[in-house]
Amino acid sequence: MTAIVRHASIHPPERPGVPAAHNFSVDVEEYFQVSAFESRVARSEWERFESRVGREVSRLLDQLTRHDARGTFFVLGWVAERKPALVRLIARAGHEIASHGWDHVRVTEQTPRAFRASVRRSKQVLEDITGVPVLGYRAPSFSIVPGGEWALDILIEEGYRYDSSLFPVRRPGYGYPGGRRDPHWLERPAGQLAEMPPATLRWCGLQLPAAGGAYFRLLPYRLVRTALRQCEDRCQPGTFYIHPWELDPTQPRFPVSWLTRVRHYGGLGRTEARLDRLLAEFRFTAMRDTVAALAAPSPPPGDRPQWRNARDLRAS
Ligand SMILES: [Zn+2]
Repeated sequence: MTAIVRHASIHPPERPGVPAAHNFSVDVEEYFQVSAFESRVARSEWERFESRVGREVSRLLDQLTRHDARGTFFVLGWVAERKPALVRLIARAGHEIASHGWDHVRVTEQTPRAFRASVRRSKQVLEDITGVPVLGYRAPSFSIVPGGEWALDILIEEGYRYDSSLFPVRRPGYGYPGGRRDPHWLERPAGQLAEMPPATLRWCGLQLPAAGGAYFRLLPYRLVRTALRQCEDRCQPGTFYIHPWELDPTQPRFPVSWLTRVRHYGGLGRTEARLDRLLAEFRFTAMRDTVAALAAPSPPPGDRPQWRNARDLRAS
């Protein structure tokens, strides 16, 4: 795998099978659907709030176009059902559509049956809108945690090709400590699934979250930059994420605790400028490109019978 080039103006020639860019990802949800507001905003009340996701996604699409960047948009099924034109707009701009589940219930709060229904329904709705298979999934609040690996098997059984939920950090409420930092294949009883972990920063012996979101808005810019450069030193693509509401400083505000207020509303006014800087400094693509280039330890589940036949022929 080649080293990743940092600046948009010095993109290397692409070689087939070699990802030459980091992963840019967007969790497409409304400002009132974030997990931190669950106790304040009941799902039954979601319809009452002003929708702002369309405007913010449009601005983000313009920004990505200006920088010739592509990304993966993990769209909430609830949003897709109400805004199919927005999903089509994202896809037509050349980006990948993936699933963020149906209604933003954390995996840690779902039964396997409810999780399966969520990932099946969201995949179906997204595919009906775009006509393109949905390959990827990201759990709300990175909520596939140790003990929740059953969810990975369900993703495989439901036809997903990759996941981007295992955040290899130790944090209250989420994180998959001990997980690998770079894209890799997971071997599960149900088959194989590519894993695209959000970027982390190795600092003074610690592994810190540095993939985007609040870490990008609240902490110095060099946190994410250094994390992506560390990925490049390993010749690996890193994964960055952002939400549309993080580009919306004038969004309606909820009366939440001091800590939640800082985490959710802090730094909203500087997200767009920082994003411009990041997009100028690094090259980004959609996760499906990285998955396609990730060397599989053995062929994907759908190809297995054919592969077995080929191997059998060689062996004989
Ligand atoms: Zn989310």
